[in-house]
Amino acid sequence: MGCGCRNFIDNSMTENLIIFNARLVTPTGTSARCGAQEMNHLHILDNATVEITKGIITYVGASRGETRDGYYNHFWHYNARGKCLLPGFVDSHTHPVFDGERADEFNRRLRGESYLSIMQSGGGIAATVRATRNATYYTLRARAETLLKQMSLMGVTTVEAKSGYGLDRDTELMLLRVIQGLQRDEHRRVDIVPTYLGAHAIPAEYAGRPDDYIDFITGEMLPHIARHRLAAFCDVFCEAGVFSVEQSRRLLTAARRYGFGLKLHADELASLGGAELAAELHAVSADHLLHVSEAGIRQLRAAGVVATLLPLTAFILKAPYAPGRQLIDSGLAVALATDLNPGSAFSGSVPLTFALACIYMGLTIEEAITAFTLNGAAALNRADTIGSIETGKQGDMVLLNTDNYHQLTYYVGMNSVIATIKGGVIHPLNG
Ligand SMILES: [Zn+2]
Repeated sequence: MGCGCRNFIDNSMTENLIIFNARLVTPTGTSARCGAQEMNHLHILDNATVEITKGIITYVGASRGETRDGYYNHFWHYNARGKCLLPGFVDSHTHPVFDGERADEFNRRLRGESYLSIMQSGGGIAATVRATRNATYYTLRARAETLLKQMSLMGVTTVEAKSGYGLDRDTELMLLRVIQGLQRDEHRRVDIVPTYLGAHAIPAEYAGRPDDYIDFITGEMLPHIARHRLAAFCDVFCEAGVFSVEQSRRLLTAARRYGFGLKLHADELASLGGAELAAELHAVSADHLLHVSEAGIRQLRAAGVVATLLPLTAFILKAPYAPGRQLIDSGLAVALATDLNPGSAFSGSVPLTFALACIYMGLTIEEAITAFTLNGAAALNRADTIGSIETGKQGDMVLLNTDNYHQLTYYVGMNSVIATIKGGVIHPLNG
């Protein structure tokens, strides 16, 4: 296909790569960047060279005189021709393992029906749960793999993936095993961080008995998942009509005892106190935050919780956007993610997330880059190994088709990525 040596790059055996003549654009550090000043600060270096040895970055800095493409001295040499080289994007909130699409519901919403009325007629998460419980491991895995491939083409190198469409014991464990299987694929283009979201909804068999369902999760599921190391995080949909603040507290307190990192779907539909609970429990992230209170913002900042914002969901549900500008100006670390899921946001679009965050949440493009790289990594407790282009970190990067990184938002919803580099292995989009 096509011509030119770049179509035939295959350094997957060595994971050794030297990219030269790049315009390096990266946040720096091994923890979340907080507030406007830190989030706006990007390290930019022209004519930069980045060397990756066995998947780990071993040199970042001024050119060392490389001029030729090709494979020699055990390294692929790749001429970036002055284009922007950024850290790989970290999508720290997705729901990609499910069966059963809900295009019909999307249509009903377009015709004016509310999400609540669709839920009350048996739609919503319950519809996906029914389909997912009837699906096989291989169906679920193939579907998730397709989504991850599409995300990789947009520059994503790490994804957090939640369970939560099985709810019963066996299906939830199967979803986590699908995630584990994808992570064990040695040819994967995306690392996958597993989150157990059993408390995504109250399953039909526990209708009206949410406390009994929480007992089932804390008594049976958490110990099993912890023992088999099937998830790094535990999440809960803390929302009016789903799980109360008190039920969420009980669940997450148990999860913390088993060693899980904590996440919350917080204050998405109403100001319930999810942010305050995230702060109280020192969760790693509080996500959504469309209706976060002033007190919640103060407490999140004091507790060092990453505020993960998901503008695609607000866009698709025609909901008010989370106050991104206010959160950053209050000194918080903000991360951006897609929330890819079959109901409220069937989109893993990185370019559209960038555009919405800047246009409607008031982020600068520099803040959005930090939010989708280093702060996304911090929302997964991985800022020490991914999220920036620095010596010692994983060789996860993205090469844009431009020397002007503003194109990430200026080209609205269009993909500017020409290559994704995962653990030092280069995947050109035309290759
Ligand atoms: Zn979600």
